[in-house]
Amino acid sequence: MKIPTICRYCGGKIIKSTTRALYPKGSEPIYLCVNCNAYVGCYPDGSPMGKVANTVLRLKRQETHRIFDRFWREQGWTRSAAYRWLAQNLHLKEHETHIGMMEMDECEQVIRLCRKYGKHKKEAA
Ligand SMILES: [Zn+2]
Repeated sequence: MKIPTICRYCGGKIIKSTTRALYPKGSEPIYLCVNCNAYVGCYPDGSPMGKVANTVLRLKRQETHRIFDRFWREQGWTRSAAYRWLAQNLHLKEHETHIGMMEMDECEQVIRLCRKYGKHKKEAA
């Protein structure tokens, strides 16, 4: 993954920083837009964990996680079975299927899948 230098939301400059720039107790290394505070986590070797995300995208990912977790628990699946199912339906490899790294449209797809399949199960019962 390429190190971000220009923010994809506002075109601002991205610097290496820590979450201390955002929260008083933060210490995780991040790449941070100095203009709009969009950010992404950073591995110890300096490579970014994905693309910078703004608040709207982060909230969307949280919502998607909630919906997906509730969905697979209702189906009585294990977590690994749930991610295998999700990977197949999104045509992704399992190790690439992380809601925490998804874009808005991928989050929407996950939510749609959960609604569709959850409903399908009810009709079949
Ligand atoms: Zn920005």
